[in-house]
Amino acid sequence: MEAYGIDFFEQVSEAAAAGWTLILVAPFVGSFLGLIIRRLPDGLPVTWARSVCEGCNTRLKVRDLVPLYSWLAQKGRCRYCGHPLGWFYPGIELAALAVALNALLVNGGEGAWLDCLLGWWLLTLGWIDLRCWLLPDVLTLPLVLVGLAAAALFDPEQLTQRALGAALGYSSLLAVAAVYKRLRGREGLGRGDAKLLASSGAWVGAAALPQVILIGALSALAAAACLRLAGVRLYAHSALPFGPFLAFATWVVWLSGSIGFVG
Ligand SMILES: [Zn+2]
Repeated sequence: MEAYGIDFFEQVSEAAAAGWTLILVAPFVGSFLGLIIRRLPDGLPVTWARSVCEGCNTRLKVRDLVPLYSWLAQKGRCRYCGHPLGWFYPGIELAALAVALNALLVNGGEGAWLDCLLGWWLLTLGWIDLRCWLLPDVLTLPLVLVGLAAAALFDPEQLTQRALGAALGYSSLLAVAAVYKRLRGREGLGRGDAKLLASSGAWVGAAALPQVILIGALSALAAAACLRLAGVRLYAHSALPFGPFLAFATWVVWLSGSIGFVG
């Protein structure tokens, strides 16, 4: 009885330790995601740190690069020249932290690391698509492989279902894109979207793909409605990129699956 109690206590404290580590690491991961988002679409090398100030080219020191803290301490300006640092880095650092908190609240403990891996990856893809209308293959394709590897390691019974999800995700969106192009005479969805839905299927499985598409489409419609209310007119040719909504929907379905709402 006593042994059981100690065991339980150990499990709880291990979960808490894993949680605090995630929360501490998340803003640093966010900083790195920011570098990927800024540099990858332009073909620039992604290294671990922003090395110089974009305003005065001063070489930045370690204390200038502490996520969130440096930005707050310097009131959003470069310490050397006063150049505004902008909202991008604190924004992505906070978003990465939000992903970690979200994962911890839903899953807790060590399982949250896998959730975060997916969440941070999707965050990067969605943000790049929003900025550049681009879903780079170097990010979507490995996400398919990592999803299937995670299934093989942690959930082998689901491997077939998730491999099927990847294949169906890719082919169904390509089919929709082909029909759309025939009907409207222009591209509505790109191959990048199909590859993103393939990676989505590799994580949530074939059975949950309709939910991903539904939530993605509904959130895109909601965003379009909000933009309209805010006075931004969306014409057919100035549509929104679909990637951020697919990424969001994948994250929602993945997390709800892990607490037993889905499949
Ligand atoms: Zn500067």
